[in-house]
Amino acid sequence: MAEIDCARCSGAACTTEDLEATPQFCPRRVTAGAIEEAEQIRTTNPDVKRIAEVARDVETTGYHKWPRVQELIEFCKRLDIETIGIAFCVGLRAETQSLVEILESHGFTVKTVVCTVNGGCNPVGQALTLNDQQTELNVIMGLCLGHDILFQQFSQAPVTTLVVKDRVTCHNPLGPIINRYWRNDLVASS
Ligand code: SF4
Repeated sequence: MAEIDCARCSGAACTTEDLEATPQFCPRRVTAGAIEEAEQIRTTNPDVKRIAEVARDVETTGYHKWPRVQELIEFCKRLDIETIGIAFCVGLRAETQSLVEILESHGFTVKTVVCTVNGGCNPVGQALTLNDQQTELNVIMGLCLGHDILFQQFSQAPVTTLVVKDRVTCHNPLGPIINRYWRNDLVASS
């Protein structure tokens, strides 16, 4: 399979009409069919158009001003979402209670379900519970890696992540990537 690698590129040619200006590994060359199909979806699917428009509006209006939780509030308001589900980690119960208080103060109905519902970690149970409650958007609050995947797989409502669990970095997974000492330790030696 031909390779793609946007991370190796400056991105300068992302918007040019001239495909010759893009590198050989550019998805616009290598996976042209997929990019074309995506354009078709992006311009014709009403749900996709609406979410994309609202996301752009939230990004530009709150740029450099709004923390993520405020972006979440504004995003839901603009999409006329009334019922929000929260799938949370048992270790973040207090933080989830604070989030609920914030969301409810803005008029949202909030349904929460803990990861240990019915015993051990149960992301599928969390998803099906929120499906049953007909939430319109589900928010992940610190589910473990892998459990977040399963939750997203089984959630009927769209899912966004507010908190990525990383117990070691105070839930900041970017820390070890941007800290060069930590990063160097993480690079596997050959
Ligand atoms: S889409 Fe093409 S031009 Fe843009 S970053 Fe990726 S490889 Fe570079």
